[in-house]
Amino acid sequence: MLKIDIVTPTRKLVDGAPADSVKLPGAKGELQILDGHTDLLTLLSTGPLVFVKDGKERKFSVSYGFAEIRNNKVLVLADTVEESKDIDKARAQAAQKRAEQALMGTLSESDFKKQQLKLERALVRQHISL
Ligand code: ATP
Repeated sequence: MLKIDIVTPTRKLVDGAPADSVKLPGAKGELQILDGHTDLLTLLSTGPLVFVKDGKERKFSVSYGFAEIRNNKVLVLADTVEESKDIDKARAQAAQKRAEQALMGTLSESDFKKQQLKLERALVRQHISL
C-alpha cells in the first residue's frame, strides 16, 4: 500500500494518506505510481496529481517542486498545490485571461516565461476544478 504526503512551503495538505495509485506531473511526463514502485526522485512540472484509494479519487493541481518515492511512500513538495474542491474557478478564468492578454504584448524573455507559467497553472486549475 502506498502512502502519500503533499506539502507546500506553508502547509501540509495530505498527511500519510493511503493510496492504491498516484499519478504525478513529472518534469519529463506523467508518472503512474503503483504499489512496489522503484524508488526515485523527480522534479515536477505544472499539472494534475491524482491519487486513488478504493476507487475514490482525490485531484490536485500542483506546480513545481519535486516528488520522492521511497519504500512505498510518496512525498510531494511543491510551490503551490490546490485540491480540486478548493479551486476558485472564476479566479483561474480571470488569471487565464490576464496571462493571455499579457502574452499578446511585448515582453522580456523572463516575463514571457512567467506569463506562460501563469497560463499553465490557470488552465490546469480549471481543468481539475469541480
Ligand atoms: P492569480 O493571478 O489568480 O493569483 P497565480 O497563478 O499567479 O494566479 P499562484 O502564484 O500560483 O497564483 O498562487 C498564489 C496562491 O494562491 C497559492 O497559495 C495558490 O495555491 C493560490 N491560488 C491561485 N489560484 C487559485 C485558484 N484559482 N483557486 C484557489 N487557490 C488559488
